[in-house]
Amino acid sequence: MTASDIAALTACISDPNRAITNAQIVQRLSRDFYWYSPILKRQLDDKTGELALQPIDVKEIQRILAYCYEHHVPVTTRGAGTGNYGQAVPLRGGVVLDLVHMNRIESITPDGVAVCQPNVRLGVLETTAREQGFELRCYPSTIVKASVGGFLGGGSGGIGSVSHGGLRDFETVRALEVVTMEAEPRVVFHEGQAVHDVLHAWGTNGIITRIWIALTPAVSWAQCSVAFDTFDQAFTFAEKIACDSQWIKRLVTTFEWPIPSCFAPILSITRPNKSLIFFMIAASQLIELKSAAEAAGGEVTLAADYTGLRTTPLLSDYTWNHTTLWAIKQDAAFTYLQCGFSPTEGRQQFATLKQHFGDEILFHIEFMKTGTGIVIPGSIPLVRFTTEQRLNEMIDLCRSIGVSVANPHVNNVEGGGRYREDNLQLLTKQKYDPRGLLNPGKMITFKPAAQATV
Ligand SMILES: Cc1cc2nc3c(=O)[nH]c(=O)nc-3n(C[C@H](O)[C@H](O)[C@H](O)COP(=O)(O)OP(=O)(O)OC[C@H]3O[C@@H](n4cnc5c(N)ncnc54)[C@H](O)[C@@H]3O)c2cc1C
Repeated sequence: MTASDIAALTACISDPNRAITNAQIVQRLSRDFYWYSPILKRQLDDKTGELALQPIDVKEIQRILAYCYEHHVPVTTRGAGTGNYGQAVPLRGGVVLDLVHMNRIESITPDGVAVCQPNVRLGVLETTAREQGFELRCYPSTIVKASVGGFLGGGSGGIGSVSHGGLRDFETVRALEVVTMEAEPRVVFHEGQAVHDVLHAWGTNGIITRIWIALTPAVSWAQCSVAFDTFDQAFTFAEKIACDSQWIKRLVTTFEWPIPSCFAPILSITRPNKSLIFFMIAASQLIELKSAAEAAGGEVTLAADYTGLRTTPLLSDYTWNHTTLWAIKQDAAFTYLQCGFSPTEGRQQFATLKQHFGDEILFHIEFMKTGTGIVIPGSIPLVRFTTEQRLNEMIDLCRSIGVSVANPHVNNVEGGGRYREDNLQLLTKQKYDPRGLLNPGKMITFKPAAQATV
């Protein structure tokens, strides 16, 4: 970018303090948690934007995009930068569009739909919703920091998904507004099925500026931790609770030993050499759950009320991709995969992987409901990384035995999972970003308009 680009772009916003040129700050705003992957770490460590702009409204975004379109300047949108795959890391410099100031909850409707700006923190939305008798259907374990827009742009599901499916299921995202990257940027409203044009496109096909997201009635939750002698026993009990719709639950997570040994602040609720399950269960069912766990041979190591995101310990802080974080803290050689095991052949698939890879793979299971209503053992297994070739052998074996893998070691929408096979996100990019300036390099099947063949 030239000095005149920077001056002109700074003039697009009403306060020059919201245009950041300090290289260190811009680099910080160009990063996410890509370093969870040793492969992405190598690829992305030196990538940075050149200027960070922090618009406060849609008009400022439109002015920025109009200038960038005319002058061929790349734009990469940033929510809170908690993504794992370098989703928000600019590959070709340009503008980091940091939406930090667009963080207003407009309303929560009486039937439980939140209308908000993109950078409302999920934790703020959860707390506000609970005050009004609702709660999020599902959220990532990064809830405190992560933004709603970033979740739509790059996330998939998390706590709550065992009952409500992923973010893209069951019409959780009701509607959104998106700003296009054209000579005259438009604000386009997408509703119903049309939200899938934009969801999980990593900000490559428009900037989401307004969101309608469905909530669910709030539940009084409790947390429970249960230890079992073997992974098989723990998995069997966890599966029973996860798949039986009589249990009202938000979280059913199973860890193979030695994963719990990485949870330094809560070692008192782990048991050496034992597998562990963490539950969020309706408080009204806690006593029943404890009895069922003990009858199945488990030891209940924690049973306590959940009083919100400040509950200590907060078991969800050790689940979903936070598990990987605790493991990396203990041993930097750990990395991870994202898998979906079969609801019927799961045990056989575990056995095959163990037979080939032994303790190079450690099972961390997150039960989740799919869009068809079936609960499956989703998984974010830990992997002891040695070489890229070895990691790819593991991915190949998974796929050959029917275990789906959303590869977290690639930096493009198509390779990372959740890309629509009907090319919806790509077709939308061709309409909304014909020059390919939004987060360029991340949607690899895209060709700029003049070369497009679709
Ligand atoms: C420890 C840890 C645990 C995690 N656990 C989970 C989990 O349980 N479930 C899960 O799904 N994810 C998880 N993640 C990934 C990530 O935290 C979530 O996906 C989160 O919702 C991303 O939100 P963000 O605001 O940080 O987005 P960012 O990282 O800032 O952005 C994510 C992507 O969305 C794009 N984007 C951001 N805002 C917009 C917008 N307004 N319009 C268009 N595009 C936009 C960005 O360009 C980027 O491509 C985890 C990550 C970490 C590090």
